[in-house]
Order: sequence, then structure tokens, then C-alpha cells
Amino acid sequence: MRFSGWQVLRQGLTGNTGWTPQWRNPDPKTEYDIVIIGGGGHGLSTAYYLAKEHGLKNIAVLEKGYLGGGNVGRNTTIVRANYYLPGNSEFYSHSLKLWENLEAELNYNVMLSQRGVIQIFHSDGQRDAAARRGNAMINQGDDATLLDREALRNILPYLDYDNARFPVYGGLLHPRGGTARHDAVAWGYARGADQRGVDLIQNCEVTGIDIENGKVRGVQTSRGAIRAKKVAMVTAGRSGQTAAMAGMRLPIESHVLQAFVTEGLKPAIDHVISFGMGHFYISQSDKGGLVFGGDLDFYASYAQRGGLHRKEQVMQAAMTLMPMIGKARVLRSWGGIMDMTPDGSPIIDKTHIEGLFVNAGWCYGGFKAVPGSGKSFAHLLATGNHHQPAARFQLDRFKSGYLLDEEGTGAQHNLH
Ligand SMILES: Cc1cc2nc3c(=O)[nH]c(=O)nc-3n(C[C@H](O)[C@H](O)[C@H](O)COP(=O)(O)OP(=O)(O)OC[C@H]3O[C@@H](n4cnc5c(N)ncnc54)[C@H](O)[C@@H]3O)c2cc1C
Repeated sequence: MRFSGWQVLRQGLTGNTGWTPQWRNPDPKTEYDIVIIGGGGHGLSTAYYLAKEHGLKNIAVLEKGYLGGGNVGRNTTIVRANYYLPGNSEFYSHSLKLWENLEAELNYNVMLSQRGVIQIFHSDGQRDAAARRGNAMINQGDDATLLDREALRNILPYLDYDNARFPVYGGLLHPRGGTARHDAVAWGYARGADQRGVDLIQNCEVTGIDIENGKVRGVQTSRGAIRAKKVAMVTAGRSGQTAAMAGMRLPIESHVLQAFVTEGLKPAIDHVISFGMGHFYISQSDKGGLVFGGDLDFYASYAQRGGLHRKEQVMQAAMTLMPMIGKARVLRSWGGIMDMTPDGSPIIDKTHIEGLFVNAGWCYGGFKAVPGSGKSFAHLLATGNHHQPAARFQLDRFKSGYLLDEEGTGAQHNLH
């Protein structure tokens, strides 16, 4: 079924009885050409591009829970291409361009809202860094505008500009950045992959990876053994555990990141705003809730909820930047498991085991990467060659020391 205004009208007039399921619910077959472990954003977009662009159909996505129940449905939905380092900047630029056509491509309302992302700066040094980043973004073909204090005040009048510790000097505006509806992205890719013949198998946990003579042969699952010529590990915060099934140790630590949402309010915050003197970012959802988050909890964990100390720090940062937020009541908070690499950049690569591939290490920024990552990973799986925009995301950088350290914080997660 194609979604359209006409379809909404028709279903509305006929009691909404004609909607069909968005994907099938197949039983696993005994063998596939490619098995993708993990039905999050990256696993589903990989399956979609494999089927659509490479004509491969005999593919299964194995998800231990339900589609979209992992980080793809738990994030603060920020989409942007404001990276600085070569390697990262072309990848996120490529991903943002895919976002811009995604609704038409998937025939699915992913609610992409290019409302602009503004990174606030609070010192001369930060202004220089913002100008340098803005120039790098423009060189990459993306958009950036440096706003001085008065220009920023015109569009964000409610910030505390004269805060004694962190006065606001201005901001770097990235107009094409914004937000999207997170689980709709997973569902849109799921529907598109299913329509092209991919089997999406929920409640199917992978418990082992079968390897013979250095070659992958398939996986063991809670629903039986499945043979496969190629296996792709796309399990985000669980990547360390999945790779361990193949006897591998990834350069990844799993940490909790929390997010928060308030009661619905009248429209107040038009952009995505990011505080420059503490890890705090905020936007307002279409339902009116203020959606915000901060730093990692800074201890390795597989829990999907976080500690009170981080809640306190996030609220403090919020009050420092925009004191008006103190009147809003927080409705919910939740956590997700972040796959943190030492340099904060991801991995899209083959492994030393023939036929076994890995897509991981998205840290706290993998939602915006979903289209680009799926496209690049599908290219690698189908052709065996690295896709140019993601060519720097290889595992051997951790051996050579030639890292992609965007934030310059090195291997310490407590400095991210
Ligand atoms: C609070 C929070 C805020 C964030 N904010 C942003 C943001 O604003 N912008 C941004 O770009 N990014 C953000 N992120 C990061 C982003 O959500 C993640 O980087 C991205 O979603 C990870 O990729 P994924 O969607 O494939 O992961 P997931 O959705 O977690 O998918 C992995 C899937 O693998 C499954 N799985 C694991 N082990 C197995 C197994 N053994 N067998 C079968 N299935 C298995 C899991 O159940 C899960 O569904 C945020 C994350 C969090 C938690």
C-alpha cells in the first residue's frame, strides 16, 4: 500500500479498516546469502540498500527484541552535518543529503524538520573554533552561518546572555540541520526492505556465530541455526558482546546516555540548540515536549536507564543556558547503550574472518548517520570494496594510531 493524503482520506471515510501490516512476520529460513544481526536504524537501512541498490533479496535481519526498540527509538533525534575532520565531514554530508530525499524515497513520513542547529560559543577561543568548523562545513558543500551575539539574540531571545560564568558570545548556525521522528525512520526502512523481499525476524536473538577455517558459516539463534554466506554485526551498544561471539575484541566500551522530555508546551524553541560550555542540547518536539540530553553517565554499563547524578548535571546546564526552562515539568527520562570508540568515530569494515563484517562505534551520534551508514555498509557487503564517503571508518586506524578524533579528547570517554 502506498501512503498518501488520498489514502488517509479514504481510510478515514471507511472506518480505518483497510490499513495493511507494514511488513510481514516470516519464520526464519535455514539459509540466507546475508544475515544482518540487529534491527536498529543501521541494520534496517543496510538491508534496504542491499535490496534496492544491489538487487540482493535473500537477506534476513535478526532482531532480538522488536524493530526500533533499541537506540534508534531512544535518541534525541538530532540530524546534522557539522563535522570538521576529513573522513567525518564527507560522510555526514553524504548522510544529510540522503535524509533530504528520504520521505519521498521511502514513501514514509519520517518528519524531517530542518529547523537549524545552533552551536553556542562562550569565549573568543570558541568563536575561532566555530568559525574554523563553519568554513570546513562550507568547503564540504554544506551550510554554516556565524552569528554574533546580537544576531543570535534576535532569534534566541530567551538565553541568559550575561551569565557570569558562561556569557554567550554568539553561535554557529547550520540551517539544514534539524530533527526527525526516530522510530519512523526505522519503520520506513523496515517497510522498504520488506517490500523488496528482505525477511525481518523479530524476537530472534543471535547467540553464536559459526566460523570454520577462518570463514563465517552462519549464526546460532534463539529460533535455531541459520546458515549464511555473509554475516553483518550491527548491534550498536551490544557490539562488544556480538563480536565476542566471533572471538573478537572491539575497541569499544558501552556507556549509558540519557534523554529527557517535558510536558507539552506551546512552541517556544524553534531550533536545535547546543550549549558550548557543558554537554547540553535541546529541541522541541512537534507534540510540544522539550527534548534534551547531556553527557554520558561515564561508567561502562548495559543498562538502559541512567543515574541521578547525570540528571542533576543536565538540569544545571539547562538552567545555566536558559533559566526559563526551570518552569517546565519533566515527564520522562530514559537511557540507551552507546558504543563508544576511543576516537569517537565509527567503524564500517570487514573483519579478519572471511564473510564477517562490522558496523559499530556510532557513539552518541549514530541517528543522523542511519541513511549514510546503511548505504555505505551495503556497498561494502555487496561489492567487498569500501564506499568512498565511509572509507576512513576502518578498524586498522586503531592499530596505526591514525585516528579520527573529532573532539580531540583522545581515548578517555570521561572527556567526551
Ligand atoms: C539518549 C540518546 C540520545 C541520542 N541522541 C542522538 C542524536 O540526537 N542524534 C544522533 O545522531 N544520534 C543520537 N544518539 C545515538 C543513536 O541513537 C545511535 O548511535 C544509533 O541509534 C545506533 O544505531 P542503531 O540504530 O542501529 O542502534 P539500535 O537501535 O540500538 O540497534 C541495534 C539492535 O541490535 C539488537 N541486538 C543486539 N544484540 C543482538 C543479538 N545478539 N541478536 C539480535 N539482535 C541484537 C538490539 O536489540 C537493537 O535493536 C542518541 C542515543 C541515545 C541513547
